[in-house]
Amino acid sequence: MSETFRALVVEDSESGQTANFRDLTTADLPDHAVLVEVEYSSLNYKDGLVVASPQKMARTTPLIAGADLAGTVVESSDPAWSAGDRVVVNGWGMSETQSGGYTRYQRVKPEWLVRIPDAFSTRDAMAIGTAGYTSALCLDKLDNWGLAAGSEVLVTGAAGGVGSIAIALAAAAGHTVVAATGRPETHDYLTALGASSFIARAELQGEGRPLGKERWDAAVDSVGGSTLVNVLAQTRYGGAVTACGLVEAPAMPGATVLPHILRGVGLLGVDSVNAPQALREAAWQRLARDLPSATLDSLSVVEPLSDVPRLAAEILDGKVRGRVVIDVTA
Ligand code: NDP
Repeated sequence: MSETFRALVVEDSESGQTANFRDLTTADLPDHAVLVEVEYSSLNYKDGLVVASPQKMARTTPLIAGADLAGTVVESSDPAWSAGDRVVVNGWGMSETQSGGYTRYQRVKPEWLVRIPDAFSTRDAMAIGTAGYTSALCLDKLDNWGLAAGSEVLVTGAAGGVGSIAIALAAAAGHTVVAATGRPETHDYLTALGASSFIARAELQGEGRPLGKERWDAAVDSVGGSTLVNVLAQTRYGGAVTACGLVEAPAMPGATVLPHILRGVGLLGVDSVNAPQALREAAWQRLARDLPSATLDSLSVVEPLSDVPRLAAEILDGKVRGRVVIDVTA
């Protein structure tokens, strides 16, 4: 295939790493078994770091940015996949050590692919994207912990990508959702997704007591830092908190073992990048069961690939609401 297409490529430069639009052909893609015609990618916090941060986030260069993609198989030398299959890829090092989704075509390893559930279009799959699939991994983990239906679940970073979809999934599971947000102007949006009450982001930040009043049975945290410490300190006896993110900070200042040894509270780590296939399949089934397309439309917008550099800076500034789908043809 000699057709030229545009991709957003992370390259080393004298000032660190920069992301630049380049015209490529399929001969420029990695030598993996499955060629996918990409329809949509999405904007995740990690994409913000790779595209807009001067730090060297990509560990291999040059590579095509974009942590996820959804599209259709064009050709496959692996019998598990055939031309026409609708597929999604999340993680597996894309945008870090492997070329990712900000491109019209990509070659990927067969074991990275998940079939898009019939309920979803390729656009829906990227309205979910890596953030939403991670939210499903978090809710699945809380189920495995034994969280009872009808529990009270706190979601931090509520108006962000992980937060928005975690709210919709927790509400669909019959939980009562408390949303922690720094943007009161998003309350109506979060209520429509399923939040029942709100707390201000600042209330959970800074140094708190090692054990506080018990306020929720479980939490989905994508913020980390002092927020995660305070969330753990206010989780009810026997509850659990999933941790997947670090937008406040990677360190947990003032953390103690007290919530764990006096209240049996669990801190459950969630990684989406290298999650085993069985967990991915289960997460996508949960999403297909609990997230109608209309909900996905309400929490996402579609933006062109050409706008990714601007959007990458906005997500790092905490200005993006919900999810941004990237149309790689535009
Ligand atoms: P978003 O930017 O969409 O959402 C993050 C939200 O956190 C913001 O919308 C904002 O919500 C809140 N926030 C922003 N800055 C701060 C701050 N300084 N202190 C407290 N809260 C803040 O990002 P994503 O939802 O895509 O990702 C969230 C985190 O999860 C990132 O760290 C990302 O890397 C991580 N992640 C990890 C994965 C894994 O596999 N472990 C997979 C996917 C994401 P509000 O305005 O409502 O307060």
